[in-house]
Formats: sequence, C-alpha cells, structure tokens
Amino acid sequence: MTASIYPATDRAWLDVDLEAVRHNVRQLRARAGVPLIVMVKANAYGVGAAMVSRALGVPFDRTPAAPDAPWGLGVASLDEAAELRDAGCRGRILCLTPLLASELPRAHALGVRPALHRVPDIRAWADAGQGGELRPYHLSIDTGMARAGVRWDQVEELRDVLRAHPPEGVFTHFHSADEDIDSRDEQDARFVDAMLALGDALPPAVLRHSDNSAGIASRTRLSPGSLARPGIAVYAGMFSELLGLRQVVHLRARVIDLREVAPGETVSYGATWTAARPSRIATISAGYADGYRRQLSNRGEVLIGGVRCPVAGRVTMDMIMVDVTDVPCAVGDIATLIGTDGVATISTEQVAELADLSPYELLVGLPLRVPSRPLLPSPS
Ligand SMILES: *Cc1c(COP(=O)(O)O)cnc(C)c1O
Repeated sequence: MTASIYPATDRAWLDVDLEAVRHNVRQLRARAGVPLIVMVKANAYGVGAAMVSRALGVPFDRTPAAPDAPWGLGVASLDEAAELRDAGCRGRILCLTPLLASELPRAHALGVRPALHRVPDIRAWADAGQGGELRPYHLSIDTGMARAGVRWDQVEELRDVLRAHPPEGVFTHFHSADEDIDSRDEQDARFVDAMLALGDALPPAVLRHSDNSAGIASRTRLSPGSLARPGIAVYAGMFSELLGLRQVVHLRARVIDLREVAPGETVSYGATWTAARPSRIATISAGYADGYRRQLSNRGEVLIGGVRCPVAGRVTMDMIMVDVTDVPCAVGDIATLIGTDGVATISTEQVAELADLSPYELLVGLPLRVPSRPLLPSPS
C-alpha cells in the first residue's frame, strides 16, 4: 500500500469507496427493476449514513435530488433519522422498526414515514396532521418473520382504519430469502393474500415492497411490487459475485512495531501461536476495538505490500500481530485488514467467512473507534 497518499499521523481508519457504493446501487436497481429504498440504518451498516446518502444523490440542503437518486432511505430509529435531517437530508426517510405511540409526534416533526400496524397508532398518526392532512406512512405486515407488523391472516381488523387513513405503502420482510426460496415464495403468497383480504381498503396506487438484498439476489425475475429495500448488498457484505458488486470498505492500519521470534516462542495473549521457524512479526495498530473481531485470531489475513500475511495469535483490543517472515515491511507501512491493496483484495465477505462471522456484524462493528472517510483517489 502506497503510504504517500495518507497523512503520516493516521494510525487506523476506514476508507469508504463511494464510487463502489454507487456502482452497487446501480447493480441492485437494475436487478430489482424497481426504485429502491436504500437501507442506511446502523449508520449505513457502519459505513456512514450521511456520506452514503449524499453520494447516492439524495437531496441535501440546497442540492437537488440526482436523477438516479433512490426513492428513499430506510432507518431503524428516529435518532438515525434525526442525524440525517441534522446533516441536511431532505429525502424521503422510512423508519421500518415499529415506533411507540409516544414517538409518533417526533416522527411527524422529522418528516419520517413510520411503519404502522396498530389501529390506535394509525389513528394517532392521522390526528397528528394539522388541517386534516395525512402524512405518509407504510403498513407493516408480518408474513412469517414474527418480528413486527400485523399478521398476514389478521389484516381484516384494519380495514376501517385503512379506509379512513390510507397508507402510502405496504410492506413485509423475509426471514430466509438467502437460504430457502420456498420460504420466500410462501411469504410472497401470504403478502398477496393479505392485500387481497384488504381489497379496496388499500388505495389502488399503494406502494408495495418486500425484497431485501437476499430477495433481490434470489429471484430470477424482477422484484415484485413497486420498491425494493436492499441493505447488506449495497455495502458488498453479501452476494458480491452473483450481483457483480464492488468492495466498499477498506480497513487500514499501520505497522507500529517489528520483532524477530525464535522457534518455540509464542505471540500474544494465551500463547496460542508458536513460531515453527525463525519468524518476523509485525504489530499492527488496530484490534477488536477498531472492529477487527477477536474471532480472527489465528485465522485472519492482512495485506502488506499486496501480500497476504496471517494473523499470529489472538487479536487484542488495540493491536494485532501478523507473520511477515516472507514479506519485506517497515514500521510506518500501511496494512489493509479488510479491502484492497494494489491488485489484492480481502473482501468483507472473505473476512466474515474466515472468522465465521455474520458480515452484518462485521460491518456494523467497524466504526467503533476508527474514523471513516471517502477513499482517496489513487495517485496514478
Ligand atoms: C435491514 C432491513 C432490510 C435490509 O436487509 P438486508 O438483508 O441488509 O438487505 C430491509 N427491510 C427491513 C425491514 C430491514 O429491517
């Protein structure tokens, strides 16, 4: 990794390739065939919600929406929505997690579209509008995830309130679209049944959405309905090969110490790594407090000078050690713990697999301590 383009004071940081985010969203949009609600919950899966939303052409302050901007953004809490609004975001924001009745006035003030499914909440939402104006909300239907929304076979109880206060959208969420297509088809069918049962209680132009990343990736045809809601694939945490996605995050840190260890000597806590030959060990300035998870102990690989170097011993809170016996390296060099260095890449998916971690958990843990920022253009 060319050190020259980075300030020499940087110890560990996350480079975010916003061009890759845009590319991934274009791939997903084409595959889904419908406009997208891009999920930016959990600070855009750790990548940076405002940075990602701006890069996608969502309107901010006086900047109008780009022609290919997503239909909207998806969050999981009003605090996440408030952070976007504070940053100047003027785009549509949906909160997909059920809100407490006590939160509805704040959703209103933030201009957030809540996911509602309880009769009193829908009434309260309608009453919060001054001058009888109904602000948009989306009806949440549980088709088998058993997490949120009205059960698909109990929607009749909502007919009257939906007639009085029609939703802008109606949606459901898959539990296993990445593993089990039959379960996805069953949920698809339950969603259709629920809409049939509601019949003319729903406005004819109601927006329908169900596909998450796995939904989009698992179909041989376009997404059903009028919108899709990808998250993990936007950040290249799953389905990269299938969907032609590009690596988004690049976790970098410095070589901050170097030593020789003799055969039989051990490295790190618990002495779980023993030198089998005269070895050179580099200490890197990132550990599990920087999102490089402890499960990568004796399993992870790190790129130095474009070469994979194995993690030696346990990952510690602030540092890891790697075996650089076969790789020239010096104090101050940059190591890539996740992402691309020259022509070599250790993808988010590969790191998650090496550590037997969910790529979701790996990504959302990354910004624990390191700053994230747009990837600098390479100095070619
Ligand atoms: C998180 C979430 C998504 C996105 O899921 P991915 O698996 O990350 O694509 C979509 N819809 C809802 C309701 C969610 O909670």
